[in-house]
Amino acid sequence: MNKVFILGAGTPTPTKERFGSSVVLSIENELVMFDCGPATTHKLIKKGILPTQVNSLFFSHHHFDHNVDYPCFLLSRWDQGAGKEEKLKVYGPNLTEKISEQLIGPEGVFSYDWKARVNHPLSQKVYQNRGGILPRKPPSIFSKDIKSGSTQLFDKFEVHSREGKHVQPYLDSLAYRLDSKKNSVVYTGDTSPCEDVVELSYKADVMISMCWDDQEIMNQIGENEGQCGTLGAAMMASEAKVKHLVLTHMGPNINKESVQRKSLKEMKKIFSGKITFSNELDEFFLN
Ligand SMILES: [Zn+2]
Repeated sequence: MNKVFILGAGTPTPTKERFGSSVVLSIENELVMFDCGPATTHKLIKKGILPTQVNSLFFSHHHFDHNVDYPCFLLSRWDQGAGKEEKLKVYGPNLTEKISEQLIGPEGVFSYDWKARVNHPLSQKVYQNRGGILPRKPPSIFSKDIKSGSTQLFDKFEVHSREGKHVQPYLDSLAYRLDSKKNSVVYTGDTSPCEDVVELSYKADVMISMCWDDQEIMNQIGENEGQCGTLGAAMMASEAKVKHLVLTHMGPNINKESVQRKSLKEMKKIFSGKITFSNELDEFFLN
């Protein structure tokens, strides 16, 4: 059965409960990851998922709360895969190819690691004991910068992208919609409420939306541009007529139950579908 795993449900502010963004969809027995924020690899393991089981990754944008565990995921996947892992496909806005190359390419900042593991007899022995066959190959992935409006086709689903409004022109931001025969799931990435993301999300089963904080507070302190709060997320969900709004990317204040209770009342006036404040390591089935 198709499923959603919320791995990272926080912001750049580390708290005991939340830190950074990452979501995995299990669709038709394939695992697709969206963003790779702090400790994603370890959170995957906590959900019983091996890095080698995730064969595609989509970045919404390249802020560290969405990509800082990328080198860890790449190296761990390559190391544990012992040469038998499928080639990882990585998509994202501008910089995705460059960052991938600069991390694990022949001159990448982590090349010292894989070069030592490829060449040292101890690492070669460990590799063989994991079932690897010498000579050991360097990590190799497929990475691609994609544009708003593009579609990536897979055997049993497709992933559409549209531009979100976040911190342009410094970083581009993409929202994604995965459609399979049975399900449609949107991952907004970081964005303010905008027409493109509403259109992308039209009648989706689930919209996983960022929710920085209670909207009233965000409006008061001027943090309401370039990102969604409670009411912004509810407005997008309502306009897009989605069935279920799952809130993630939540800061320390909206993590409090009292704030969530107040926000929920206000959101329900705007959006009549199901609303869930997600926690890290939550998982739920798609119908
Ligand atoms: Zn973010």
